[in-house]
Amino acid sequence: MRPGGYSVGEHRDSRCAIDAGQSECRDVGPRIAIREVSMEAYFNLVGGSSASVSDVYDVKDPATLGIVARAPISTLADLDDAVSAGNAASRGMWAYDLSIRRSLLAQCASRIEACSDELANVLSQEQGKPVAAAKAEIGLAVRLLAHYAQKDERKETLRRRPTEYVDVVRAPIGTVGLIVPWNYPIAILMMKLAPALWAGNTVVIKPAPSTPLTTLKLCARLAEILPAGVINTVTGEGDIGQALVEHAGIRKVSFTGSTPTGIRVMSSAAPMLKRLTLELGGNDAAIVCHDANVTAIAPRIFANAFTNAGQLCCAIKRLYVHRSVFDQMAERLTDIARHWRVGPGLHPETQMGPLNNRAQRDHVRALLDDAVAHGGTIHVGGESLAGYDGYFLKPAIVSGVSDESRIVKEEQFGPALPVLPFDSVDEAIDRANASEFGLGGSIWSSNVIAAADAASRLEAVNLYVNQHAVPPDPELPFGGMKASGFGYELGDWGCDDFSIRKVLNVNTGVA
Ligand code: NDP
Repeated sequence: MRPGGYSVGEHRDSRCAIDAGQSECRDVGPRIAIREVSMEAYFNLVGGSSASVSDVYDVKDPATLGIVARAPISTLADLDDAVSAGNAASRGMWAYDLSIRRSLLAQCASRIEACSDELANVLSQEQGKPVAAAKAEIGLAVRLLAHYAQKDERKETLRRRPTEYVDVVRAPIGTVGLIVPWNYPIAILMMKLAPALWAGNTVVIKPAPSTPLTTLKLCARLAEILPAGVINTVTGEGDIGQALVEHAGIRKVSFTGSTPTGIRVMSSAAPMLKRLTLELGGNDAAIVCHDANVTAIAPRIFANAFTNAGQLCCAIKRLYVHRSVFDQMAERLTDIARHWRVGPGLHPETQMGPLNNRAQRDHVRALLDDAVAHGGTIHVGGESLAGYDGYFLKPAIVSGVSDESRIVKEEQFGPALPVLPFDSVDEAIDRANASEFGLGGSIWSSNVIAAADAASRLEAVNLYVNQHAVPPDPELPFGGMKASGFGYELGDWGCDDFSIRKVLNVNTGVA
């Protein structure tokens, strides 16, 4: 391992300078480049201490392909140590005393808030998102911790009679595996971690190979507060995720990622009947009715479809628009896309960064090529960003494709939105429901009552009217059906997913 390293610096590149007068999609400048300086070392956390590192791999900035830092590659022995540490901590007071856990969660929220700028910078560099969005993501993590720090146990009494009572009491599951993807490495981590800790579990966290750094930094801060072994991490590029799922000391796995990998996780978990929460992405439809105010809603629809460069499980991924307002909506979205500022995340003017990794960029590019090959029109976008080696794709608006085209049927998970005309709301709902996925869906109309009724007919769990995928609300459950998975995160139901509910039958008559 080389001791030197890289961090972000700047140099001017006139090819990327903003030209305020141009009508094309604007690229930000000056160019953010990589220069070599000392590289920070990152460590996994096992039993409250930094684990020794036997090997490392490069974590790259998806805007420049420069190395941000190197992350440890966990061995199976490291995984054993992490699980053993979690198992040992789960037998201690941590599992039994909610008031201590709540007090420590409050301290965790303050500690993360205090280093949010540092965390956001690393997150922007490894994930690619604009630094303002990275700050918002860290802010959400702080709010989730603070929410669970305030949350009381909800006692359920099922029966109370003169000679007996029956209570449902929640108990922790044990050591749980949290497998987190690369699109929202900290928000998705915290949607799992905060309720898991609140419920008294201990955890082994596995971040995605392309985004481990912010997670390791954040966990090191949490370890300064939490009892040793409550939080443990493993990282790597290979089979460590599957080994975590299969490990005998892991009692539950909460996984967010693709449907094919979710199916593999489920089959790896089956022999030991492990509990699972699977959040597997989606292909959310938004349906714009004839009476919608296109001018008012187009920016909101655009923002939802292209936030995080479209790498959001509950982004709008298919836009069905009533034929009477179709041209107006397509033109409005095209205009917004043309002026959207694309650039590296650390540049203050960037509205949309690169995709996180080469496979994802190539996947979205292939869907766009397929759309054109089958007669579709790309109104704007789809190109890379001049002057950058990274995984940029400018936001693309696509029409003239059928429901059978790849860009409509598959989850693009990137900055490309197909816009499709319809003639009746019933038809649009049938077409929306024809998807294998069932995560979210929205109806946009000036008739809110009719829209709410239509929304409830969508085969999806998270339903919206005149909005889509508002930021996660700790009080509201979030989940999926069909190929989008099962189980819930957040809300009381999210706590239930990290708990065993025991039924306590007490005969008071005998005593
Ligand atoms: P994957 O679903 O393959 O990976 C997600 C996580 O699972 C990573 O941490 C990965 O780490 C881990 N993993 C992979 N295989 C296994 C396994 N057998 N057992 C346990 N863990 C495993 O996502 P990709 O990165 O390949 O992205 C592909 C597609 O997934 C995207 O195009 C998008 O459609 C969807 N996706 C959905 C997300 C969502 O929020 N729902 C988030 C990210 C992607 P490792 O590779 O080290 O094993």
